[in-house]
Formats: sequence, structure tokens, C-alpha cells
Amino acid sequence: MANLNLEVKKKHKYDAIVIGSGASGGWAAKELCDRGLKTLVLERGRGVKHIEDYPTASKAPWDFEHRGNVTQEQRKGFEMAKFMRAETLHWALPDDEQPIVQEKPFNWFRGYHEGGKSLLWARQTQRWSDFDYEGPARDGFAVDWPIRYKDIVAWYEHVEKFAGIAGFNDNLDALPNSIVQPGWDLNCVEQHFKETIEKTYNDRFLVFGRCAHLTDPQQIHYDQGRGKCMSQRMCNRGCNYGGYFSSNSSTLPWAAKTGNLTLRPHSVVHSIIYDERKEKATGVRVIDATSKEMVEFYAKVIFVNGSAINTNAILMNSTSNRFENGLGNDSGVLGKYIAWHNYRGQVSGKYDGFKDKKTSGAHPSHSYIPRFRNLRKHEENFLRGYATGIGGGRGNHSSKDGIGDELRDNLLNRELGGWNLSGWMMGETIPVEENHIRLHENLKDKYGIPQIVFSCEWQDNDTKMVEDFQTTMAEMFEKVGFEDIKTRDSKAVPGSDIHEMGGVRMGHDAKTSILNKHNQVHSCKNVFVTDGACMTSTSTQNPTLTYMAYAARAANFAADELKKKNL
Ligand SMILES: Cc1cc2nc3c(=O)[nH]c(=O)nc-3n(C[C@H](O)[C@H](O)[C@H](O)COP(=O)(O)OP(=O)(O)OC[C@H]3O[C@@H](n4cnc5c(N)ncnc54)[C@H](O)[C@@H]3O)c2cc1C
Ligand code: SF4
Repeated sequence: MANLNLEVKKKHKYDAIVIGSGASGGWAAKELCDRGLKTLVLERGRGVKHIEDYPTASKAPWDFEHRGNVTQEQRKGFEMAKFMRAETLHWALPDDEQPIVQEKPFNWFRGYHEGGKSLLWARQTQRWSDFDYEGPARDGFAVDWPIRYKDIVAWYEHVEKFAGIAGFNDNLDALPNSIVQPGWDLNCVEQHFKETIEKTYNDRFLVFGRCAHLTDPQQIHYDQGRGKCMSQRMCNRGCNYGGYFSSNSSTLPWAAKTGNLTLRPHSVVHSIIYDERKEKATGVRVIDATSKEMVEFYAKVIFVNGSAINTNAILMNSTSNRFENGLGNDSGVLGKYIAWHNYRGQVSGKYDGFKDKKTSGAHPSHSYIPRFRNLRKHEENFLRGYATGIGGGRGNHSSKDGIGDELRDNLLNRELGGWNLSGWMMGETIPVEENHIRLHENLKDKYGIPQIVFSCEWQDNDTKMVEDFQTTMAEMFEKVGFEDIKTRDSKAVPGSDIHEMGGVRMGHDAKTSILNKHNQVHSCKNVFVTDGACMTSTSTQNPTLTYMAYAARAANFAADELKKKNL
């Protein structure tokens, strides 16, 4: 029997384990495999192979039974995925997969399948700047980041070259330049908006929103099996061209080609195994989603990339005599200082002009105003600031007047409407200790894992920021010549803005943070966290490019440390 156990142990032994195959886990796996490490990726959801598992990718609207609408019957058991239509229903999470306790309401979006949310994201990829990294120290919240832009810039470049980013270099302090392929043109109203605000204000700029799409694929992209983006804008179904970056189109097949990758779907990670004698982690416990049995896997180094909230939960569930309150939690901050983005502010307006122009074609991004509030110094009645997404165009409609031939002619002859534009706020929230998640003492999910309790709410600072967004944007839209300007506070519950972060923050020391400057758990050096959980603060830029850069950087650091026998 003992020999049998030893055999299983041997078979379940790898150099590295990566928990989660999403945007950040895919990058960790690619880099570890490239460095020659036998790597096991554990994914709780099903396997999704690029192209062959995108059932709706090339379907036309009339190919769907109800033109893409989802019936009440089909919705049963998928209430949490209300926003999904028939085109993307194959990514929906069943309600019974992972029930949560909302002590305070939180909208938690999840993608549990190979590739995670890298198949669902909007692909916006703006770099952070030192205005972001220096934020906590300058404005006195959370803790100081242990790194600055100079520490990550080479890794942004590394990720951008491989993933492919479309856009332009805008030479703005708040938005460092990227390695880009050509972006798409702004439409005439966006261009007019840009010219007017840049003439009117000296601190505001409108640029094309950089996005992870291939417009001029290079050999490195062809080597991944990807091709040029055809601007179809059906990305969230999964793209047969590999026009946008996802783990499935890019990092995972690349890692597989090295021969070093093993990907195990249906593997729900329960906890990390800590060896008190060796003073390090030795493996992970997994609940097999099909058999519900617990299986153990072992490795020299472990990357936790389950997406921010799950990564917190896995560390919290990893208790031992040494870590009674969760792995690496000497500071007591594990699960605390959860933050997200504030998308509550909205603005729209109509433009009576450019009647001789219309948009031709489409593209998968929008335009973007980088943060300008409190940028160089704190000068408003709230901390930090917001970026703004801007998009719109010229709608068309057909008159439904008449009957018979007249009605048919009216329906067939669509008339162009006026130009309209809308803007949405992307605000930085301040991580505060009270905004936390924890594990429920009694309630468990169907795998026997404790349910996650969410206890997060908006702060006064967030509301003041929304108010400022509304007045500032109304003024800017007016200056550009818009009419019928409307602003709104959606008052959406936290989390609706899809960028939850924190709980396993980086910092200078184990007294105030969980991770060091290499994303390495201070007190358990062979465990790394490089997803949103590691974020000390949230910036206003979309965060995923930064997680991917951290994952690539930390994976190479781990490979170096292993070589030096430091792990
Ligand atoms: C609609 C939408 C639009 C978005 N748009 C943007 C955008 O424009 N720009 C941007 O930067 N970000 C965007 N995001 C956010 C972006 O998708 C995430 O930041 C990113 O995917 C996070 O990467 P990750 O690796 O941390 O997590 P994910 O990509 O979510 O991957 C986590 C993986 O871990 C697996 N997992 C979880 N728990 C376990 C466990 N216990 N055991 C094993 N496996 C586990 C999951 O199944 C999943 O596959 C968007 C998100 C959504 C939903
Ligand atoms: S817009 Fe580009 S990436 Fe998106 S589905 Fe179309 S071709 Fe694919």
C-alpha cells in the first residue's frame, strides 16, 4: 500500500502548479513552461479548445432560435448570468456552482472554464503609470506599493509584444506608451470632441482606447496560430481568427507546444498544503468536480491565479498550525482592503452636425479620456480620480408608418438619425479595511468548500467622485457643442464594474501585507499570487494587462530562484 501511495505521489509531482487558466494563470503557465518547468494548470471549469469549442462564433442572428434572446426556460438555473444572450450562454455559470453570502450586495462576475474571463473581457489594455504606483504613499491610504513603473515596464513590453495591442502612442504622462500595432480611426464626432477639449483644457485628452487585438500580426502571432482581427465585434463568443488575446488563443496553446504543460480541467482547488518542517508549500488539495473526491498534487512552486476573490478564498482555506488564519496571513490583512472600479457615472448627449458624414465599418474598441483629476496633486474634495470611456455614433431607424407597400418601403429604407455619444466613468476606489471578504463558518458549497461572505460597500469618496464626474462631463459635453445632455448615477452595487482587486496585497513587509515586490508570499516563499488579489490599489486603468505583466515577471523570478535553489 505504501508503495502504491508513493507511486501516486510520484505521478502527481510537477515543478510548478498554476491554479486557474484565465488571463493571469495563462501567462504564468506560458512563462514557466518556456523556462523548462513541468507545469500543471488546475482549472475548476471545463476544457475549452480554441476554435473547436466556440459553438456560436460564426453564427448569424437568424441562426439563433429567438434571434439571440434567451427564454425563461433556458434562463432557469443561470439567474446570475442575466446579461448573457444566446450567443454567449455557453460561458454562463450555473447558479449552484458556487453560492455566495452577500452580507452586503456584491455583483461578482465569474468565468469558470479553461481561459476564464480572458474569453469574456472587453480587452482594454492601458498601462499603469507612476501616478498610480505612487498614489497610496502620496495620498495616505492602504500601504505603499513595493514597486514602481520602472520595475514593471520591461514586462509590459514583453506581454504587449506577445499578446498584440492595437492603439497609438499618445505621449501622455498618465498613460505611458505601449508597444502597439495600428489602432482604428476615431469617428468624426469623437475627433471633434478631441480637438475641442484639447483646445479648451490643458489637462484633458481623448485617445483611442488601446485593446488586445491584432491589426498587424507579426511572426510571433502567426506562431501562436492567430491572425488579423476582422472587426466583426463578436469577440465574446470566442474568435475563430484569434483576433484578440485570450489564454485559449495564445498563452495556453503556446505552453502546450513546449511539451511541459499538463492542464487538468474539472479540478476545484480546495487549499494549499503547507509543510511545517520544510517551512514551505508542497502542493495543493483538489476536489475533482466529476467524482467529488479529493486528490493531491505536489510541486516546488505554486502560482495562485484563481481571479482575485477565489485566490483570497483559497489562501483563507489553507490553514495549518503555522498559519491558523490562512496561508501567509501573519499581518491579518488577508481578505481585507478589497477594492474595485467605480463605473457609476454616466453621461450622454446629441450632436446636431456632421450630417454629411457617417461611420463606415466598425471596430472592437472605443475612445478613452485618461485620468486628469487630482493627477499631479490632490486638489478636489475627493481622493484620486477617474478615466472616461467614450463611444457612440450615428444610429439609423426605419419608420413604421403606413400599411402594406408603404410600410414595407418604410421598413426597408432606413433613415440615418443624428450623432450621439455617451461616456462612462472608470473611477479608482480606495481600499479600506472594512471592505472585506471572509469564509462562512458553516455554509459550504457542493464541493465541501466554505462559502465566501462579501462585505463591501461604497465609500463617501466614491459618491463625491461620481458627482464630480457628472458636473465635469456635462460641462465638457456642452463645450463640445452637444445638446440634450444627460448625466446619471447608476448606483450599481459594488462589483458590477468587473475589476475586483486586493485582499492579498503587495507591500514592503509581512506586518502590513501578504506579498513582497516579487508577488511572493512574504512568509511562504514558494507561493506566488499574480492576479487581481495582489493589487495594493486600483488605479483607473483596466487592470488585466498589469496582472499579466506581474505573472510573467514573477514566473521568471520563480524560475531563477529555483535554479539558484532558493525555493
Ligand atoms: C464583461 C467583462 C469585461 C471585461 N473587460 C476588461 C477590459 O476591457 N480590460 C481589462 O483589463 N479587464 C477586463 N475585464 C476583467 C478581466 O476579465 C479580468 O481582470 C481577468 O480575466 C482576470 O484574470 P485572472 O486570471 O485573474 O482571472 P480569470 O480570467 O477569471 O481566470 C481565473 C480562472 O481560475 C479558475 N478558478 C477559480 N477558482 C478556482 C479554483 N478554486 N480551482 C481551480 N480553478 C479556479 C476559473 O475557473 C478561471 O478559469 C472584464 C471582465 C468582464 C467579465
Ligand atoms: S472583432 Fe476581431 S477579435 Fe473580435 S470577433 Fe471580430 S475578428 Fe475576432
